[in-house]
Amino acid sequence: YHAVDPIPEVELPALWELARLRLCVSVSMSALQQKREPGNPYLSATAGPALRLLRRLLRISSDQVLQRFRVVCGFSEEKEQIRSNRRDELRTRRQAVLGPNLSLSYQDPLIIERGAGRYLFDQNGRGFLDAVNNVPHVGHCHPQVVEAAARQMRMLNTNSRYLHEERIRFAERLAATFPESLSVVYLVNSGSEANELALRLARNHTGGNDMVVIDAAYHGNTGALVELSPYKFNGPGGGGRVDHVQVATLPDCYRGEFGYDFPEAGTAYAEDVKRCFSTIHDRGGRPAAFIAESISGCGGQVVYPSGYLDAAFSHAKSFGAVTIADEVQVGYGRVGSHFWAFETQGVVPDIVTMGKPIGNGHPLGAVITTPEIANSFQAGMEYFNTFGGNPVSCAVGNAVLDVIEEEGLQANASRTGQVLKEGLLELKDRHDSIGDVRGLGLYQGVVCVGSRKTREADANTANILVERMRQDGILLSTDGPLHDVIKIKPPLVFQESDARHFLLCFERALVAI
Ligand code: PMP
Repeated sequence: YHAVDPIPEVELPALWELARLRLCVSVSMSALQQKREPGNPYLSATAGPALRLLRRLLRISSDQVLQRFRVVCGFSEEKEQIRSNRRDELRTRRQAVLGPNLSLSYQDPLIIERGAGRYLFDQNGRGFLDAVNNVPHVGHCHPQVVEAAARQMRMLNTNSRYLHEERIRFAERLAATFPESLSVVYLVNSGSEANELALRLARNHTGGNDMVVIDAAYHGNTGALVELSPYKFNGPGGGGRVDHVQVATLPDCYRGEFGYDFPEAGTAYAEDVKRCFSTIHDRGGRPAAFIAESISGCGGQVVYPSGYLDAAFSHAKSFGAVTIADEVQVGYGRVGSHFWAFETQGVVPDIVTMGKPIGNGHPLGAVITTPEIANSFQAGMEYFNTFGGNPVSCAVGNAVLDVIEEEGLQANASRTGQVLKEGLLELKDRHDSIGDVRGLGLYQGVVCVGSRKTREADANTANILVERMRQDGILLSTDGPLHDVIKIKPPLVFQESDARHFLLCFERALVAI
């Protein structure tokens, strides 16, 4: 084409985008025409292949394509050096101004400039399938959520001192997702703030101060929450356990004392929660709460054996403590079978905290509790929170709930999670470096080991796999006390076709180890 009708150099960068846009038009037109004339197969003949091609093309960097086009058309190639300098420059500036201990993912950090659905795009226009970010729950930059935020921002944003429909409606809708006993909602701005408030509620209600937490847990970044997070206080730079916190064993049936085939492993692990409360009692302390994620995230995607939370909650109650479920990571339909992960254990906590997914990237968190605990909190002192539950946040919160319902995302988490889990279990059969596969819905973990027999943790392999997957255009991360667990927790719009593509690439990475 260029030989016959030369394209001007300035127009060349538009060529690739226009080619992809042409495919988008094709897919959109086909959808429209199928709606007008359902049952006419001719109208959908090109849609499938076009969509598949689009998905493949978005994994190719626009920048790379442009360089190829430039060469083919006889223009000089732009210097690679200029582009890689950008990353070094940003890294240096970031370190200087944002503090040295703000961590970055990957040996070669990504510059991410755009997000859409389950994709993130780097500065060169290369798309990555996001299999790790659980905050953009309904998909990156979901247009309905963005529009709701923009519309409300144009209209009004204030603190909570005025009556506002959006705020009350959001709290009512949130409460409707919980068992009846949980009915009083506090709106905050983050998971940490939610857990801080939960602590105050528990301490006000019980008059106690002492806490029981599960080993390897992370509950937030404030001073009080770092003290409740063995992941932090026992980790690098941590100050160790403080006296008013007791740590119960992580009920990990893969690495712990009671294995997957141990009968009643749940109650057996919960005995350690009882031990912690006995210790508090023996020391003359007064317990306030047992706090637990409903599935352990930083502990390495550990799904507790059945009966664990039920027995642990019973022990907590018998010592006069309240129970707090931290659903900041695992709630909101992610586990597929239920809206809240605590429901999979058949328990009802006294307090539940939530954050990350409920604002889809907008800073929004919440605490829900019983009227009794809420009444104890009303001891004269006003509770005020400038930004918590502001109209924009609540418009976002309502839009996220709308999308979950309208797009059937909980059911998708269940369906797609099953495809993923089954595929991972098959890979485990074929590859000795996978020790365990666990998780619920779209919250899965793969434990990497030196050999299946010895079960020795292999953080290095976990890292190599994550780096390889990134090269292949899929984003993941590692976690767990031994850094040997690959975490898979994509936005809930992750499709079955994404799961299959993921498994294909993951096997390729495993073979190449
Ligand atoms: N609880 C859990 C289980 C978390 O994973 C996190 C964040 N990783 C928090 C609380 C704190 O939330 P935030 O970072 O929004 O303060």
